[in-house]
Amino acid sequence: MILTSRPLSTLALTALFALSSLPFAASAQTQHAHVHGQIKLDVVVEGPTVVIEMGSPLDNFVGFERAPRTDAEKKAVDDAVTQLRAADHLFKIDPTANCKLGPVTLRSAALGMGKPDANATEGHADLDATFAFNCTNAAAAKFIDIDLFNAFKGPRQIEAQIASPQGQFKRTLKRPATRLSWTK
Ligand SMILES: [Zn+2]
Repeated sequence: MILTSRPLSTLALTALFALSSLPFAASAQTQHAHVHGQIKLDVVVEGPTVVIEMGSPLDNFVGFERAPRTDAEKKAVDDAVTQLRAADHLFKIDPTANCKLGPVTLRSAALGMGKPDANATEGHADLDATFAFNCTNAAAAKFIDIDLFNAFKGPRQIEAQIASPQGQFKRTLKRPATRLSWTK
């Protein structure tokens, strides 16, 4: 679980506490029925890093929720994985923060990546991810331009929670909006 997989600061603990009281609090690890078309993002700006945790139905990226069966489906998966790994094209962080893409971790049991997926038993499957960016001025970041709606047909809405030195924010982004901003 998230509590043991990363170092916890006071800020992160506060963020986790805040997340736990919200209806869509579930991060990637939590067992729950997902909503097709919806992507959940937890953005944590802390120290020199911006970390984006993404939870999404696999359907959003490839149009199905199981292992690929045809060449076309395999190509759809390969294309989606390639695009998600190039996360600095999907998440363009406020240039003031001067960030560079660091490690990207993708998790989808249906695609043979990562751990078993609770949603699989309901005929559903997720594709979750962690995108880490290293920045010279992370605390200055006030927005992220998100290209997920352009890159993929499936997503219609992004539910985002942001924990940053400016405070904690909850934002909804609906297609075709692209800018996730916080503070004033
Ligand atoms: Zn589903």
